[in-house]
Amino acid sequence: MSVIERPTLDVERIRQDFPILAAKARGHDLVYLDSAATSQKPSAVIEAIHRYYAEQNSNVHRGLYELSELATEKYEAARATVRSFIHASDSHEIVFVRGATEGINLVAQTFGRATLKAGDQVLITAMEHHSNIVPWQMLCAEKGALLKVVPISDSGELLLDEYARLLTPRTRIAALAHVSNALGTINPVREMIEMAHSVGAKVLIDGAQAVPHLPVDVQDLDCDFYVFSGHKVCGPTGIGVLYGKAEILEAMPPYQGGGDMILSVTFEKTTYNRPPYKFEAGTPHIEGAIGLAAALTYLEGVGMAAIAAYEKDLTAYGAERLIEVPGLRLIGTARNKAAVLSFVLEGVHPHDIGTLLDRQGIAIRAGHHCAQPVMERFGVPATARASLSFYNTPEELDRLQEALCKVNEVFGR
Ligand code: PLP
Repeated sequence: MSVIERPTLDVERIRQDFPILAAKARGHDLVYLDSAATSQKPSAVIEAIHRYYAEQNSNVHRGLYELSELATEKYEAARATVRSFIHASDSHEIVFVRGATEGINLVAQTFGRATLKAGDQVLITAMEHHSNIVPWQMLCAEKGALLKVVPISDSGELLLDEYARLLTPRTRIAALAHVSNALGTINPVREMIEMAHSVGAKVLIDGAQAVPHLPVDVQDLDCDFYVFSGHKVCGPTGIGVLYGKAEILEAMPPYQGGGDMILSVTFEKTTYNRPPYKFEAGTPHIEGAIGLAAALTYLEGVGMAAIAAYEKDLTAYGAERLIEVPGLRLIGTARNKAAVLSFVLEGVHPHDIGTLLDRQGIAIRAGHHCAQPVMERFGVPATARASLSFYNTPEELDRLQEALCKVNEVFGR
């Protein structure tokens, strides 16, 4: 059995930070390989949420008393933590939303609606999650605009020549995955953003699968918008982030109306608050923001560069082990990949793989992964997907490999 020779992280110690990883599943030690769907949470996050409700709970931005000041301070401190984690230049560029999906819809419904005209184009790629397809389709249908799609190669890489060809002066928005959830491909977004800017398009990057795995610097990327979800970066569900360049957020119309997004209201006229509050109508997910900040602080403590290096080795090791399984085909073999191993097994439906692995205590995902166009591109109805995190070990991938061999036995191979 070959294992990673130079582990860059003390994974055994890290695992102790995640209470759920000690759980049993179907009588076996749990092997959790579904972090692309949602990550597990360290005690630091669970405790921060507990502390908030036990000691700090109050509504934000409104109260004049100490507890409300404390909750407001924690909520705004969370925004500052996000700013520093993704290297935005100002906390006012950080809008709290429900998740990557809401962030994309917000941009489509505000910036997109205000900008797009009939005959304009929105450019996406063939490896997008449905969350980065449907909001643009809806917008294009409303505006009479065209949705263009960058194709992908057999290994699951974007065809950059095609991307260059599809970018035209009519392209108003390019919405691109940083990392594909179905294939694991890391796209060269920095270069792609520069190319889009050269035709005058604004760029939204869907970082839902990148922020958990790579250091991200939005200023270095020079993207106009960047979205990600808290629950995929060891934080709680129901909270996510939309980063937008200050001057663009400033010029955008509001998303939803309600409390906090206004400066003054009369029946004749409402004056809107400045960003980010302009886009945060109603009582926000205070506990979520605080939990997300605890998660990002935790990840910073482990080190995003160390996480990226460890996961790169772990993903390569996992791929090596998986291709030893007779009849297994990896879907997505890009040169630059992050933490996703999608595969099919000859003669076995991915759902059967998922069910049989579950019986052995191994949690993977089977289906289209909300990326049906990717399935169509590779001519499969679904894949099985093992998705990794820095708390996974080579030994868990050995267990996956052995369990897949047993699946083969069940199917007479
Ligand atoms: N984009 C990508 C690449 C994803 O993988 C996901 C979730 O799997 C999303 C967007 C949507 O994230 P959420 O459901 O947290 O809004």
